[in-house]
Amino acid sequence: MPLDPALRRALTDRVRYYNDLGIYDFYRRPVAPEISASVARAPSPAAFVEQHPVVVREESLPKPKSQSPIVDHATALRLIREDLGDCTRCRLHQQGRKQIVFGVGDPNADLMFIGEAPGADEDEQGEPFVGRSGQLLTNMIKAMGLRREDVYIANIIKCRPPANRTPERDECDTCSPFLMRQIEAIRPKALVALGAVAAKSLLAINAPMSELRGRWYDFRGTKLAVTYHPAFLLRDPRQKKETWKDLQMVMKEMGLPLPEKTPE
Ligand code: URA
Repeated sequence: MPLDPALRRALTDRVRYYNDLGIYDFYRRPVAPEISASVARAPSPAAFVEQHPVVVREESLPKPKSQSPIVDHATALRLIREDLGDCTRCRLHQQGRKQIVFGVGDPNADLMFIGEAPGADEDEQGEPFVGRSGQLLTNMIKAMGLRREDVYIANIIKCRPPANRTPERDECDTCSPFLMRQIEAIRPKALVALGAVAAKSLLAINAPMSELRGRWYDFRGTKLAVTYHPAFLLRDPRQKKETWKDLQMVMKEMGLPLPEKTPE
């Protein structure tokens, strides 16, 4: 159904307003019966717009985010967390998750790591990568000359899948819009996808890790590198060498000094 032009304008202005707050994705939720009844009784969209005009002054139009961030990165992240709420959007909320694992680190980070999904330790503590693989990730970050708190760490999905199974496609599709908003809010210089699930989910490419890693991708305007997941490195430490090559590629791009010696 074509939209009434006045309603379309009002919606455009409203969407711009939310974009300015750092909100880019919108979701349709099932509407409670009492709300749909009240909507049915409500005036037509055109009449509503007439009664509630949105006055947009030229100077209030949002400028590109990079030039005038009206909302700082930390506030944008807080708004995303608020939107997420006590999420029940996918089945994982009924499958034993203790808490949502949103993400951790510097809201102004230049570098963001993206893993797969919280495990038992993360579910317990509400923070990504705090278990054994988290310890290794922290060491990888240190080897890059950074501290864990200098970067931002998140996962493709925010709730622990039962028995740490691989996230299902629909779970990733439901959850990843929040990750996209986190990336938009933080605006890092580079992203590092940890492991095949993160890489394939972000890049929508189905290829083995050996082919995915070792090069840069453009992810919605941000550079993205792929490397092995720390949990995989714990199982196959021989691949640490390859991972270090990937991290050096990232360090070079970010202007970080390269150490002469390969870290342990
Ligand atoms: N593995 C992940 O992919 N993410 C975590 O947060 C922990 C382990």
